[in-house]
Amino acid sequence: MTAESKSDELIAFVAVRLAEDESQAQLFHELGCAVAPGPGEVPRRRCHCPTPAWLTARVHALQRVLRDCEKRIRRAGPEDPDRPLGPTLAEVHVRAVALRFEEHPQWREEWRP
Ligand SMILES: [Zn+2]
Repeated sequence: MTAESKSDELIAFVAVRLAEDESQAQLFHELGCAVAPGPGEVPRRRCHCPTPAWLTARVHALQRVLRDCEKRIRRAGPEDPDRPLGPTLAEVHVRAVALRFEEHPQWREEWRP
């Protein structure tokens, strides 16, 4: 297995976990919230429930970090002035984000930062 494919698997693992977190954020609407979606539904309107908004904002921030790290890992080439430090640091960041999911059955110890 190449280093790039290992990074791809780590990135895919984190992306799926973050998507799950985003979906699960909808479970935390206040009682009586008229906007709360049913299981598997996407909210159609915004509401004032603080917890889903906070959780969703957190997921979106981590998704931005993941996308940035993925770009840094993928663009690494011999002409990249950050090479090899840029991609290495980017993977360390992805591993740090992934650590939150260490209890997931698909977690791999080799991803531990
Ligand atoms: Zn709500």
